[in-house]
Amino acid sequence: MADLTTTLAPHRTPDLAALGLDLTRPLLIVDVDEVLGLFMQGFGRFLETRGYEMRIDRYALFQSIFRPGATEHLDLAEGRALFDDFFRFGCGDIEPAPGGAQALAELSRDAGVVILSNAPGQGRLARARWLGRQGLDYPLILNTGPKGPLAAALARQTSGPCAFIDDLIPNLDSVAESAPAVMRFQMVADPRLRLFAPSAPERHTRIDDWPQMKDAVAQAIARPRG
Ligand SMILES: [Mg+2]
Repeated sequence: MADLTTTLAPHRTPDLAALGLDLTRPLLIVDVDEVLGLFMQGFGRFLETRGYEMRIDRYALFQSIFRPGATEHLDLAEGRALFDDFFRFGCGDIEPAPGGAQALAELSRDAGVVILSNAPGQGRLARARWLGRQGLDYPLILNTGPKGPLAAALARQTSGPCAFIDDLIPNLDSVAESAPAVMRFQMVADPRLRLFAPSAPERHTRIDDWPQMKDAVAQAIARPRG
């Protein structure tokens, strides 16, 4: 598994051919948290083991962590430390988003797939193993910050159509800016978050379930690159 895992070094773009991808096929670039995996649910369970609770009444991760009974959310730095610990100890325990593995298995008959995650480095091996256990054994690329520059660098290596799936508008906007030819799809896998998640359907197609996403992406990548 480790040989399928690439940590992005500064100024170095993963080589898709070296990762085994056919550069003439369509390319799918797919996020993990809230796309293939139910991050908030898993992080919430992890928080309980540390004596905290998650309350989802807005779309702001670190403002959703509370001490039991408290009305003010946890200090942001403490939330960040718990987030880092989750990726150190707990990120192998999240549930898969329903239908994701099946959809990618079907899409991968006609397209190459890479997983592009902003998980911090300490979660790299646990994340790669988790993907393998879920039937999502595609190359894992870790990124930091907005995903547009890296998505553009990946898309430049291929001649076929490219699609990008993520839950976060800043990542989708970043791809729109850096790689406008890459088709963008937003998915918010956790039903509790869907109400609160910002979307921008005029810029990025929003589809929250995998069977529908699969059909839309299959249609999109069947057309030649625009
Ligand atoms: Mg995500």
